[in-house]
Amino acid sequence: PALLDVQDAVVDYHVPGRATVHAVAGVSLSVEAGEIVGLVGESGCGKSTLGRAIVGLQKLSSGTVSLEGHPVAPVGRGARPVRDRGLQMVFQDPYSSLNPRRRIGKQIADGLAASTDPRPVTEQVAELLDSVGLSANVASRFPHEFSGGQRQRIAIARALAPNPSIIVADEPVSALDASTRAQVTNLLTSLAADRRMGLLFISHDLSGVRHMADRVAVMYLGRIVENSPTEPLWGDPLHPYSEALIKAIPKLGVDAAAPVAPSGEVPDPSNPPTGCRFHPRCPYAMDRCITDDPALVHIEETREAACWLQPEGGPARRLLDLSVV
Ligand code: SF4
Ligand code: MG
Repeated sequence: PALLDVQDAVVDYHVPGRATVHAVAGVSLSVEAGEIVGLVGESGCGKSTLGRAIVGLQKLSSGTVSLEGHPVAPVGRGARPVRDRGLQMVFQDPYSSLNPRRRIGKQIADGLAASTDPRPVTEQVAELLDSVGLSANVASRFPHEFSGGQRQRIAIARALAPNPSIIVADEPVSALDASTRAQVTNLLTSLAADRRMGLLFISHDLSGVRHMADRVAVMYLGRIVENSPTEPLWGDPLHPYSEALIKAIPKLGVDAAAPVAPSGEVPDPSNPPTGCRFHPRCPYAMDRCITDDPALVHIEETREAACWLQPEGGPARRLLDLSVV
């Protein structure tokens, strides 16, 4: 089985007096050992909710999450999310995810509670600090004594302490300045490779995942609309939303951190459009797109898309060759 396997995951939010929001509306996704998967989409598309459901911080309404073939996310009435030590999360804001009043060595040591390593805890903490590029003598310091990038390194060390087989990182570098961003991204990339660890890297910034992700899953309104190895996605997107995200990336010299969205508003997730959810914003929309909801299917062996332009099983159609706009 895959290291991480998500099948038909649904997460509903029930707000009293309002329509149910399907924040995650049927997502299937897998991550292999040592693989880096970028999960990309605009704010509000459900990617953070999906990430939280995978690590057990958010209850699934239906569907399954399995780690090496074992289910880790029970569903149904009364089910509580389970935190599996094999799944750890790194958050956007390392300051709020660290306790300001505890020494960072202690916070990292918390993650070693189930460790079977016979070596002293201080030695294991020192090793974890070293693996994120920090020296052992910072263990007695408090979070406020560190820069944003260093705090994110500390949060990563803490996530590594239980020796997870996969890390879900939700916008881990979005709060950092541009120079630190690449360092922390590179750190996560090399940790995934060195430890044969899966990494699900959640980001609103497609260009930020381009050089680090093996594969990219593009999410729109609670669904994955394209799942593809990174380079073919970049040169030849199969889904019009992926194409719009790529076209919206600012050119060199413009602030790459500025969120740029494809044209049109993101629809209300409690009342998604009929048919293909992207149809009100899609330059290729056909009559069928208004009534029929395309499923995510294999177009090529390693590429999936949910779009009526792409025939299941291929051959893939190049959007660039279709005469629109
Ligand atoms: Fe556009 Fe239709 Fe494809 Fe949806 S199914 S992305 S509306 S062409
Ligand atoms: Mg988010």
